[in-house]
Amino acid sequence: MIAEVIVDIAHSEVDRIFDYLCDEEICAGMRVVVPFGRGVATGFVMRVKAESDLPAEKLKRVYRAEENYPVLTQECLQLAEGIALRYHCPKALVLRLFLPAPMRTGRASEYYRTYARLAPVDYAPSPRAAAQLALLAYLKEHGEEDAAVLRKQFGGAVTALEKKGALLFEKRRILRDPYAGVQEEGGPRTLTPMQREAVHRIENTQKTVTLLHGVTGSGKTEIYLDLIAKQLKAGKTALFLVPEISLTPQMLAQLRARFGSAAAILHSGLSDGERFDEWCRLREGSARIAIGARSAVFAPVENVGIIVIDEEHDGSYNSESSPRYRTLDIALFRARYNSCKIVLGSATPAVETYRRAQEGEFELVTLPERINRRPMPRVEIVDMRREVRRGNPTPFSAALRDRLQTCLERGNQAILFLNRRGYSQTVLCRDCGYVAKCEHCDVSLTYHHEENCLKCHYCGTRYHMLSACPQCGGRHINYVGTGTQRVVEELKRLYPSARILRMDNDTTSGKEGHLKILHRFSEREADFLVGTQMVAKGHDFPFVTLVGILDADMSLHFPDYRSGERTFQLVTQVAGRSGRAEETGEVVLQTYDPGNYILRFAAEYDYKGFYEHEIALRAASAFPPFALIVRVMVTGEDEREAIAALKAAYGGLCALRDAHAEKFLFLQRMYAPIRRIQNRYRCQVLMRLTDGEVLQEIYTIAARSQSKNTLVYVEENPSNLN
Ligand code: ADP
Ligand code: ZN
Repeated sequence: MIAEVIVDIAHSEVDRIFDYLCDEEICAGMRVVVPFGRGVATGFVMRVKAESDLPAEKLKRVYRAEENYPVLTQECLQLAEGIALRYHCPKALVLRLFLPAPMRTGRASEYYRTYARLAPVDYAPSPRAAAQLALLAYLKEHGEEDAAVLRKQFGGAVTALEKKGALLFEKRRILRDPYAGVQEEGGPRTLTPMQREAVHRIENTQKTVTLLHGVTGSGKTEIYLDLIAKQLKAGKTALFLVPEISLTPQMLAQLRARFGSAAAILHSGLSDGERFDEWCRLREGSARIAIGARSAVFAPVENVGIIVIDEEHDGSYNSESSPRYRTLDIALFRARYNSCKIVLGSATPAVETYRRAQEGEFELVTLPERINRRPMPRVEIVDMRREVRRGNPTPFSAALRDRLQTCLERGNQAILFLNRRGYSQTVLCRDCGYVAKCEHCDVSLTYHHEENCLKCHYCGTRYHMLSACPQCGGRHINYVGTGTQRVVEELKRLYPSARILRMDNDTTSGKEGHLKILHRFSEREADFLVGTQMVAKGHDFPFVTLVGILDADMSLHFPDYRSGERTFQLVTQVAGRSGRAEETGEVVLQTYDPGNYILRFAAEYDYKGFYEHEIALRAASAFPPFALIVRVMVTGEDEREAIAALKAAYGGLCALRDAHAEKFLFLQRMYAPIRRIQNRYRCQVLMRLTDGEVLQEIYTIAARSQSKNTLVYVEENPSNLN
């Protein structure tokens, strides 16, 4: 037999099939150890065939299989080929996505424990061997016990009895259960008529994808769980994807209560061993729902019955390292392979997704009301320019301070949200709210520290750094934001009795960092929770009746065509945390730009209004989904080498543009906004294309331009243009 092997080395030079002789036991999908060059390598068997085109004497033989079963299913192998082709990256790199990292690196392996019980022989130790007698009595009572526990308790007696043949040992595989301690909460609920209708439409549509557009608190989660439960009953499996941050303690408890150990829950807080075991449980079929962030879309389940992508608009669904895949694209492949449905859920769908639903590609199901017709929280827009003029130096408006006081007196909880994204890069006048924008592109400019100037990321135009505001002449030009830490200090000063929790990147590192904070807040160990983007996602805290958005417009000025969309999403999501139980919630939205249409739409929960406005703007200015933004990024430790690679890429891309001028709206080379990260110089060619027709050529040019010490890669509609 011949095995076609891809070696597990992520390099384009070895990114091809190598033939090896192998035995009968080897099959497609196995990991094998093979002789490679002058050493050994691990590889993946892509296919097994009868004959090779190479003469037999040239073929080497597979040393051995790493596992005694194929770690990759037939579906995974096909999907891997598709991804490698689509994103032009080495197959080895793609195949790795399907395996838990600790498996490849050997940092985790199967975990065994040895159990001892009494052998069916009559052995009577001497009456003086007290430990042996005690051990025998113990096993008579308990039947069996972990040998390690016995050795600890009875010492040498274990070995003594073993020698006499009085004990039987059995080694058993143990799957570590990371959720053993999780309190299970909440079984299935009776669906409301709205929810039932939604389930019915998702199950019966001819379309593969349904967009479930439901306001926050409309009961989308219950719909997902119902759909999943039905598929499990029918003997199928499910993928349930959520942004990492949504795997809250409540969510875990709910999933455990509903599905028990049939659910494998993958998140960054797991240890290597736990992650490995969860993967094994999915692969062998004892777990049949994979729940997790982006990477769970690669879960090794077979016979998939449904794929749910919750908070589909979330940026974390796009991979930012090679292969730069989109989770929905992978899900679409798996849905086609398994003939199953995909549900995309969100209160604020991505503009691009909503358009696909409008155009009829996706089914659209709308839930316009909260469960039990609970009212949406009322949003009050507060003009922060007035506060500055009144001499209020704190991050809290008078209105917000009032509400915080009331909240505290009533024993309710509040969330204070700080919109820090891109803040430090954008230049804002604190007197009038003026924001520096590009004259040609209508996007905000980015401050470049090294050169002390402002630049447009879309056309490269340079502007002088401002010393005074061109609109009002004021000198309170600000480009450094208020941090969460400062907000907490101010809060403590204003409300000495309040208990405050902070959640941001600094406080959530480490195992289960954010889970711990959320748990404490849900246990009402604090009155106020102060945080960044992380507090915005799908948490359900019944006692939160107030949400303060401290600087709602900051993300509006992020130099990105999606900044309006992001702001709408953020404001809606954070506002949705308020008033989820009996008491009606309130939201105070502070801004320097109170007339802003995005904020107005968000305050009225008017997604349609927002969408119509935004899509018209995108069409007029030729931004996605009416165009494709592509960046060819070049990085290298040596600046000259990076520039040489950039020149090569630029030359190729210019030639491509000359051949297809009608496809190119824009093409420019420049330094990346952050010129150097981790000792690597960064430069880029930025393009805007009418569509993706020349994409494949761009990938080829990028690959060709890469030199020994540089990296050249392609990003499509990147969510981060730093
Ligand atoms: P969403 O995901 O749309 O934001 P959730 O699924 O979190 O909404 O539901 C909002 C709240 O309504 C939750 O507290 C949930 O427990 C509750 N809920 C959902 N469905 C039902 C139902 N059928 N009956 C009663 N309560 C429900
Ligand atoms: Zn510009």
